Amino acid sequence: MAPKKQLADADVLAEFANLEPAQVVSFRQKHPDFFPDTFWPDGRVGLPEILVKAGEFGFDWKRYQDLLRSAWEKAFPLEKCIRLIAPSGRLEQSELYVFGSTYAYQSAVMFLHEQPWRAKICEECHKRFVADHAKRRYCSVARATSEGGWTKCSEIKIKESHNKWGRKNNWGRPRGR
Ligand SMILES: [Zn+2]
Repeated sequence: MAPKKQLADADVLAEFANLEPAQVVSFRQKHPDFFPDTFWPDGRVGLPEILVKAGEFGFDWKRYQDLLRSAWEKAFPLEKCIRLIAPSGRLEQSELYVFGSTYAYQSAVMFLHEQPWRAKICEECHKRFVADHAKRRYCSVARATSEGGWTKCSEIKIKESHNKWGRKNNWGRPRGR
């Protein structure tokens, strides 16, 4: 069993790995302390805009996300994890480096390095998620249904296999007549 905090942080890392550019603002509002402020474009410290645009200084969030996604596909190998936790570029200018503090994103990366079986890609929606047991194939992230309610991939798959069983077995009723 993993401590709740570690699992929660890993879930946030998965959320970040799935993030679309339009969702950046709401992600930051929801998880203000997950990354240092300098991680985000408007939080950078004393770096000329032109250099940031040229991408010469380590990560911007999108490049970090690309690296994270490739780590997710390859079960968090050491060399990728080192790049993911080492303060680079703008992160070097943050308190992370100056005061030696650690951030939730770093412990989440290390957690998935230690338990790489948890880093999965949902077979239904193809988003990254953190599994609670090794055989899990579908995520449990809530999303809206066309009928205005909520569902998740794991529920969809349970329903599907139930329907499949029902069709095959005549819904438990005897056949014929
Ligand atoms: Zn899913």
